[in-house]
Amino acid sequence: MNYEIIQMDAGSWRIEDGGVRFFLLAGYDKALLIDSGMNLPNAREIAEGLTDLPLAIINTHADRDHIAGNQGFRQIMMHPKEEAHYRAGGGEGEIIPVQEGDEIDLGGRILRIIELEGHTPGSIAILDPARRVLISGDSIQQHGRIFMFGAHRNLKDYAASMARLEGRRQEFDEIWPSHAAIPLSPDLIPRLKEGAERILAGQAELKEVDFREQKIHIADLGFVSFLLP
Ligand SMILES: [Zn+2]
Repeated sequence: MNYEIIQMDAGSWRIEDGGVRFFLLAGYDKALLIDSGMNLPNAREIAEGLTDLPLAIINTHADRDHIAGNQGFRQIMMHPKEEAHYRAGGGEGEIIPVQEGDEIDLGGRILRIIELEGHTPGSIAILDPARRVLISGDSIQQHGRIFMFGAHRNLKDYAASMARLEGRRQEFDEIWPSHAAIPLSPDLIPRLKEGAERILAGQAELKEVDFREQKIHIADLGFVSFLLP
């Protein structure tokens, strides 16, 4: 499969896998893959081509465009609220649960888990406080589409997560999302929160479309679209 590796800084890479990307972060002692793509069952080999350090994996969430390379790992860190969705999609391996406030120490590089329930029940972001970067999964996007239709998604929880994250925007300068433009400004967080609240209040314009053999609605807010039931 075609993919592209782009170095973000010393010890950080993004792997572009078609319309989705995942990340490799290295400390002094360990490296961490954040998601594993949509078309790359060999994500582990790709990461091992970039670092010799022992490699672990964490999923921002378990949608299928983020887990293709999980099969290269025996243990996978994710939020426990993702497990049902992960298993339903055929996901394998032992789940190592992570939750709000947990730290992952890569050796001289400590990462912190931030829960962002909404896009999926156990969506998380990963904060690199020293580099002031937030790796956001699908919850934050610009010029992308945030999927909010389907039984496991909840727009009200999403708006609440954006409100909580807005309270922490002093902790990072850049956001690295899984889709569309990168890097992003933390200024997007209040705009996404307000957009979700406008949709919830029935104030956004919705357009009905056929999408993957179902009827859904799109709220195009200009800077991002929400795909809704
Ligand atoms: Zn995605």
